[in-house]
Amino acid sequence: MSLQKKLLTEAKLKLHNTKTEVFIPQYGFGTASAPDQLEETKTALKAAVKAGVRNIDTARYYGNGHIEYAIGEAIQELIKEGVVTREDLFITTKVWPNYWNRAADSLETSLKALQVDYVDLLLQHWPLCFPQVVNDKTGELIGKPHDENGEPIYEKDGDYIVTFQQINKILDDPANGKKVRAIGVSNYDVLKLERVFADESIKNKPSVLQVELNPQLNQTELIDFCTKKGITVIGYSPLGSSGAPILKLPELKEIGDKHGIKPYDVVISWFISKNLVVIPRTINPDRFKDIKYYYELPEEDIKKIDQIGETKPYRHIDEDFAHVLPGFTGRTKTENE
Ligand code: NDP
Repeated sequence: MSLQKKLLTEAKLKLHNTKTEVFIPQYGFGTASAPDQLEETKTALKAAVKAGVRNIDTARYYGNGHIEYAIGEAIQELIKEGVVTREDLFITTKVWPNYWNRAADSLETSLKALQVDYVDLLLQHWPLCFPQVVNDKTGELIGKPHDENGEPIYEKDGDYIVTFQQINKILDDPANGKKVRAIGVSNYDVLKLERVFADESIKNKPSVLQVELNPQLNQTELIDFCTKKGITVIGYSPLGSSGAPILKLPELKEIGDKHGIKPYDVVISWFISKNLVVIPRTINPDRFKDIKYYYELPEEDIKKIDQIGETKPYRHIDEDFAHVLPGFTGRTKTENE
């Protein structure tokens, strides 16, 4: 018997801990592209929106601070072409750790680049504080500062919670409150989330947690905690990042073959059925000719996919600056900009 299929672009979740009613589309478009892929990202994003995708995940830092300009252009063109209105879209941006104590400035810069009056979701990108260091050659701020020995450097007296305290205040600020519809954090663990809930100065608790999430990193404990606290979980690197290694897992191929669907559809359907949000990245506009449905996978298949996280656990995004965070080893060297 073939699986029941539903339109991917219609899957939505209601966010909690918000001031107004906010729905997030469960399938989004990731934009952490390389700085030399701005045009490709723009073209793919336009194809995605034309295919019905409404959720755009970006960040101040992506493309070394340049991607938001390309996304802004794409959004303006889509609006001018009559494909969507601004209100049809759900746009997320994030505050990078070198703006850890300047969240409102970071938001302002993102709004200008994106050419919009508000974002739907503002996230703290990492629970880390980096110093502001300028690149002598480009005059731009260095996103991932390192010392002369190639070691990542952090702001000595910085406290990561300050960033979310500031983001929380933006929602209540009469001047800035309308510039953001919901707030949240990324790369937090349970202990850090508990700290946010215990902090009485934070009146607006996170609506969203964004973390790496895929069959090899199923984040069961975090998801359980978030469900109890009304936090919606967004999974980043759902395909295991560049090269999409997750799609090569034999377990996913086997499940896909059984139902006559692709491993990509299996992964996306796993996310949707677990009430999660998924934000795969692509610079290939042709992908959207095929991407239309998600499938109601049987419980036994969902359990098999959950099991991959126990038998083949692997964190795909593990950059050197993150080694100070629990669960990260800092295995991958980041570029010394
Ligand atoms: P993904 O896990 O989405 O994988 C991207 C790779 O998958 C690309 O190589 C892409 O190649 C390939 N791919 C995409 N669609 C298909 C398909 N249908 N079939 C085969 N291959 C495919 O990578 P990311 O690490 O970028 O994660 C997604 C998004 O999550 C980011 O773009 C960003 O928005 C967010 N993110 C957030 C982080 C955070 O700290 N909060 C950290 C990392 C990511 P191609 O381009 O050729 O399609």
